Amino acid sequence: MRQGLARSLFASLFLAVLALLLACGGCRAPAPPPDPWALYRQAMRPSTQGQLDALGPVPVYRIHATLEGQGERLVGFQTVRFPNPSADTLPEIVFRLYPNLPQFAGRMDVQMVKVNGLDVSFSQTTSDTVLEVRLETPLPPGEVAEVELVYALRIPSPEAPYVLFGRSAGIVSLPYFYPLLALRDAQGWQRYLPPPYGDASSCATALYQVAFSAPADLQVVAPGVVVSQTVGADGLATWEFVSGPIREFAVVASPRFQWAEEAVGEVRVRSWFLPEDREGGLAALHYAAAALRVYEDWFGPYPFPHLAVVEAPLGVHGMEFPTLSLIGLDLYREHRDDLEYMVAHEIAHQWWYNQVGNDQVRFPWLDEGLAEYSAYLYFDQVYGRKRAEALRQERWVLPYQYLVAQGEDAPVNQPVFNFARNYEALVYGKAALFFHRLHQEMGDARFRQALRQYLARYRYDLATPERLMGVFNEVAGQDLTPLYNQWIRGVGAPPEP
Ligand SMILES: [Zn+2]
Repeated sequence: MRQGLARSLFASLFLAVLALLLACGGCRAPAPPPDPWALYRQAMRPSTQGQLDALGPVPVYRIHATLEGQGERLVGFQTVRFPNPSADTLPEIVFRLYPNLPQFAGRMDVQMVKVNGLDVSFSQTTSDTVLEVRLETPLPPGEVAEVELVYALRIPSPEAPYVLFGRSAGIVSLPYFYPLLALRDAQGWQRYLPPPYGDASSCATALYQVAFSAPADLQVVAPGVVVSQTVGADGLATWEFVSGPIREFAVVASPRFQWAEEAVGEVRVRSWFLPEDREGGLAALHYAAAALRVYEDWFGPYPFPHLAVVEAPLGVHGMEFPTLSLIGLDLYREHRDDLEYMVAHEIAHQWWYNQVGNDQVRFPWLDEGLAEYSAYLYFDQVYGRKRAEALRQERWVLPYQYLVAQGEDAPVNQPVFNFARNYEALVYGKAALFFHRLHQEMGDARFRQALRQYLARYRYDLATPERLMGVFNEVAGQDLTPLYNQWIRGVGAPPEP
């Protein structure tokens, strides 16, 4: 019995150990799936990396561009991983070649296109600003196509006070230096020819990995983080950038750029300027840091560890790009009085354009009106109501009243083509006055809550007027449509007191 007991005890013990081993094997946590966004996390702040996990399928660009000569030419090779986000099966994928717009006077030609490794036919249409890539096999919803493109770009050097694309004042400005996926919405691929007075590009959110080769003496400013910098035997330096979720990848470079930097929490704010404009450059840095503080308080976090203001040959104008605000060099010089307003406006676009996007051709007022009104919030918070009210009067009320007196008032909610010289007073001024009326109607707490809700709901997505008003009506707990109809859809809104 004892022996038998021992044997049976041994057998039981053996079975128990075996069961335990099997059970442990079964309960061991399975290896986690590889993180699809691992590379891009470094381009986010530690506190905003979760935004990548909520992103859904987005295009991923891998670009190698080489700036040749003194910056007259660029050759590029890029691969775009394009997940079809629509409910339609797509017979084509459409890119935009913005340098071919008449207002940019550049020349971009695509030399080769492959889809999933196979040569495909393609054509340049719409004054060569549209690249149609025909798919041998149409792309069903949710499926991914990998598009390879080889292209060459001639970069102009116009004699003009406003040069958004090209070489001027010792600065090379290269937004749109690569074929950008066209915006696709319920109406299909967008193939508009935007007029010179609005923003040219409308883009879906994407992730970027860019190697940019250029003469080593250049200071190269671009979105994202620099993950490596090397100099080849040919004397060209190559900067490798990785971005977070952004709408477009713009490069600005100059051998003469200097910079100054200030930390705001997790974000390093950097101002790039020409040596002779150092005083303005330091002022721009101060304003950008202050704007970041104000807007994070009002709207919610800026997602990235870097934010830049960059002096550019834009006269007295500014232009927004993801993580970069281009500020016209005359604002560093004889028009310094307007520098602070311009920086406040452009920095606001990091929320209202890069985070919450909109079709810039069909609904230009959505981001412009809100970026304008954000400048009011900035002046109000930094200097008090009197300065904010002065801004409102000078920038919006007076130009709008003048327009009404001239009989040129018009609905704000129109595509960019429909405006003429009334574009700024309506799309910036009257739209900002509408947001001011919403603010008055809702009060501080609800207006702030509505802006934060609008950001949270449509971050990295596209807003429409209906989506905006949906959020504001919901948070206000009242129907704000009469105000919308009066200010945005109608004409003859009451002159401001
Ligand atoms: Zn703007």
